[in-house]
Amino acid sequence: MPALFVGHGSPMNALEDNAFTRGWQDAARQISRPKAILCISAHWETRGVHIGAAERPETIHDFYGFPQALFDLRYPAPGDPALAWRIAQQIKDVKVHLDAGHGLDHGAWSVLRVMYPDADIPTLQLSLDTTQPGPFHYWLAQELAPLRDEGVLILGSGNIVHNLREFSFRDPTPLHWAMRADAAIRARIEKREHAVLADWNGLGPDVLRGIGGPEHFVPLLYTLALQQPAETIRFFNTTVIGSISMTSLQIG
Ligand code: ZN
Repeated sequence: MPALFVGHGSPMNALEDNAFTRGWQDAARQISRPKAILCISAHWETRGVHIGAAERPETIHDFYGFPQALFDLRYPAPGDPALAWRIAQQIKDVKVHLDAGHGLDHGAWSVLRVMYPDADIPTLQLSLDTTQPGPFHYWLAQELAPLRDEGVLILGSGNIVHNLREFSFRDPTPLHWAMRADAAIRARIEKREHAVLADWNGLGPDVLRGIGGPEHFVPLLYTLALQQPAETIRFFNTTVIGSISMTSLQIG
């Protein structure tokens, strides 16, 4: 099973038909139907590592200032508590907490609603322990690799350049520094410089300006960590809007 990282951008993509949503649909068409989906989203930050173990994960509307239609939207994919338990056992280096009350955040459902509109594939989320440094996430993600052989789609969801302070809804013109940051990160990905990406402080001022949080960048590390030596990367949606990059990629 391939692995994906998707730049999710605005939650409005869940309701729109645009170049980005078509890129997500293309990706879904190119891969066989997953048995389950494990999403690592920018929007579930925790202390310690948690995994969603709800039977019926609720749709979390973790944003404000958007139209009512977005708040009315539900993504009723089932959960998979048994798989959540198994993944928690499989990760040996850290304790993974089962969270039966946690639903799906918009980093997951805004993309999955477009990719798999029938919402009939069991979906769960692994949280981001953002108290931990980049290499922690990279090494943790490698423990997820066997899931690919079972037909589980691992989906990182964030934005490799994400600076909301400099973002303007009125002006989507790509900022020069954001374009440079996007290109710099893509070049490192192409050269498989994963250690440099995981320890991002050496990536220069443009990249640091875009990494911010770094919760929107870290999901990328989960996808990159799954790349096997013979696997190539396909980039898609390589567009910068203002200070946000929608760059997405497929491994395998
Ligand atoms: Zn986001």
